[in-house]
Amino acid sequence: MRIDIITVLPELLKSPFEASILKRAIEKDIVEVHMHNLRDYTKMSYNQIDDYQFGGGAGMVMMIEPIDKCISSLKADRDYDEVIYMSPDGETLNQKIANGMSLLNNIIILCGHYKGVDQRVRDAYITREISIGDYVLSGGELGAAVLCDTIIRLIPGVLNNETSALTDTFQDNLLAPPVYTRPSEYKGMKVPDILLSGNFPKIEKWREDKAQERTEKLRPDLLK
Ligand code: SAH
Repeated sequence: MRIDIITVLPELLKSPFEASILKRAIEKDIVEVHMHNLRDYTKMSYNQIDDYQFGGGAGMVMMIEPIDKCISSLKADRDYDEVIYMSPDGETLNQKIANGMSLLNNIIILCGHYKGVDQRVRDAYITREISIGDYVLSGGELGAAVLCDTIIRLIPGVLNNETSALTDTFQDNLLAPPVYTRPSEYKGMKVPDILLSGNFPKIEKWREDKAQERTEKLRPDLLK
């Protein structure tokens, strides 16, 4: 998979891809992530990429031309499955969307700033708009990092234990059951006996019951 991220703040985006699972996925050549600084695509002085909004009002708007130039130059080299704009009014990201996107080959992610991008960018070039939740960030970069993390960990070969993503919360609309590790007793707090029993069918049943129980209690909306 290849991910091209268009941003005015590449430095804000670097570290998530230089650590942990994302770094390993890049090193294993399972995924390629390229960052493009929008300021490299403007001819204006001071590398200007935003301007006042027509009709007046507070807040700058990102101009269409640098974004068009950047997207066009990427599209000249390959086809893209989606051109995504990070936006608080987009579809709210969830595990189902992440599962679907993890199957794509090439995607572009556009990060907004200020008041966002000129509406014509969204009308003409964007194929999908994604929000990471009902709150407003100052830029799309942190959202893009969240989106990339959740997609990349689902690509086969990225997680060491292939089955581990499948038992995560939300994967089957259930919250994950509780997990424990050594020691089996700490300051009087014990691990449930069943997990130490070695009876794997029973353990599996216990985990399913706990997942069901926690979902009913904490997120009944998932069971609808
Ligand atoms: N004026 C816009 C908000 C702009 S916030 C509005 O009211 O809708 C600046 C940028 O941050 C946006 O262009 C978007 O790229 C990013 N952003 C803000 N909140 C986000 C969220 N919840 N999910 C994804 N991106 C977000």
